[in-house]
Amino acid sequence: MTTRYVGLVVLLLSLMCPRHVAGGAETGGALVFRNARVFDGARVLPRATVLVRDGRIAAVGPEVQAPEGARVIDARGKTLLPGLIDSHTHVFGPEVLRAALVFGVTTELDMFMSDAVLDSIRKDLAGEKGADIADLRSAGTLVTAPGGHGTEYGLPIPTLSSPEQAQAFVDARIAEGSDYIKIVYDDGKALGLSFPTLSRETLKAVIAAAHARKKLAVVHIGSLQGAREAVEAGADGLAHAFIDRIPEADFGRLVASHHAFVVPTLTVLESVSGRGGGAALAADPAIAPFLSPGGQADLNRAFPKLAGAAANYAAAEEAVRQLRAAGVPMLAGTDAPNPGTTHGASLHRELELLVKAGLTPAEALAAATSVPAQQFGLEDRGMIAPGKRADLLLVNGDPTADITATRKIAGVWKLGVTVDRDSYRAEMEKQRAEASRSAGVPPGAKPGLVSDFEDGKPSARFGAGWQVSTDSLQGGQSKASFKVVENGAQKSKGALLIEGEVDGGLPYAWAGAIFFPGEVPMAPADLSSKKQVSFWAKADGRSYNVMLFAPSQNFAPLAQTFVPGTEWKQFTFKLSQFNGYDGHDLAGLFIGAGLPAGKFALQIDDVSFQ
Ligand SMILES: [Zn+2]
Repeated sequence: MTTRYVGLVVLLLSLMCPRHVAGGAETGGALVFRNARVFDGARVLPRATVLVRDGRIAAVGPEVQAPEGARVIDARGKTLLPGLIDSHTHVFGPEVLRAALVFGVTTELDMFMSDAVLDSIRKDLAGEKGADIADLRSAGTLVTAPGGHGTEYGLPIPTLSSPEQAQAFVDARIAEGSDYIKIVYDDGKALGLSFPTLSRETLKAVIAAAHARKKLAVVHIGSLQGAREAVEAGADGLAHAFIDRIPEADFGRLVASHHAFVVPTLTVLESVSGRGGGAALAADPAIAPFLSPGGQADLNRAFPKLAGAAANYAAAEEAVRQLRAAGVPMLAGTDAPNPGTTHGASLHRELELLVKAGLTPAEALAAATSVPAQQFGLEDRGMIAPGKRADLLLVNGDPTADITATRKIAGVWKLGVTVDRDSYRAEMEKQRAEASRSAGVPPGAKPGLVSDFEDGKPSARFGAGWQVSTDSLQGGQSKASFKVVENGAQKSKGALLIEGEVDGGLPYAWAGAIFFPGEVPMAPADLSSKKQVSFWAKADGRSYNVMLFAPSQNFAPLAQTFVPGTEWKQFTFKLSQFNGYDGHDLAGLFIGAGLPAGKFALQIDDVSFQ
């Protein structure tokens, strides 16, 4: 499960608020946690000292002495844990890894993202930004059948249709940088959908192809039957539990006998089941101050209710109970940012749900630390032990007794460097205030005309004008430019020519022009007196997008498509066509091209709100 357009949202938010640069980087000096209760990834040391040097754990024990000049943190009443690992996320840009880190999630295991974005994040991780964002391992592009789950998000991905292609397919993913292979084996029926999926033979062949290259094969399933077949086909791990049917009593033993691990992702399953756990998390006073407007909206969002969809959350809990009894390694994963989940915060919910499903708090903590480190071969982390990375989470209280104590964060360190949570919190507070501020009617907006391009300039009658907007800031290669040209619509003088090339490398590729109705780019403007937006257009017969952005919509693009021909034609869209939007806080109007990739040239004229 993935959500589309998140990268664009992140981009737009980062336009609004310039990025904060990390503060508080300690250099080289030793760091000591004294009098801490330590959960080392497996067991509890009731009172210990932990010495960190050069980003690594140097010593752990009751007798460890603080060296001269060390920074000493008195951790009395607190618990020190290895940085948490979320074993199922989707990463559409670096910003979500910043959110993860602030919540103590120092490593994310992505289960499907664009390999172009992965490339650019790897560069961030290697550079200055690295201290500010969670570390990442990724499946890159997933393996699915033509038209299968994973193809519905607009990212043009290669697909697999026969066992014979499996090795070449897997090798291509490895060449792109996939750390492990994520495979979709799900026909969607349990969710009331219908997708083609890989045959059992092809599934077996992909798993074998991954193993031939010493890569883990992690299989997304959507049903009990799918889970059984995936482990029988040799899956190393299952990317979800299921909510379609209570498993027969032998399910846990079956998984155990095949030595597979399971990432139950109870967080997303409770969301699919309509249990509202995300909203509860968003309201938690330990969580709320650190949520971005986007994260807040993600948590409050619900999956659409589909006829015929299974929603038997008890099935997932029973699966977890059986898996635990059978000794199957379980890994904590959220599937963020699906509706009802968000990066970082949701892992704390997952820990709580794992405990409710029968794990002890210490087992749940191991599921987010040492167990994923073991299963994914991340030998340098997941434990507080000499030589391991000093990715650390310090919390108030004792999460080995009350799992919700993981939310009472006293500090987060990545490679021994303090994460500046206070600045992040202040920044998010500002962003949330900005997003909820009631927008004013911009001066000059009353007649509704935006631009007729008659003065030969790309100017606008109100707002902050037009700008080029492309996916380039998200690592995309799409290009656009615009200029005023002669021979506008209805025999007028000027029109705006927007031209460029859409690159297919991103799931949310876009290139075009964006009009900002507010006084500064992305400031919301109250256009609720207007009922529709219209413009004239002519082009080349390919399809184009018109998209609206608003803070009340979490900046998720509200999109409509149109297909202009070679003659000028007027296009009119009711605002309500955009997901029922009412125009009260419009921050941007985009007109331009999306996928498919390729060159485009679009002329627009007489843009107005009526
Ligand atoms: Zn997923």
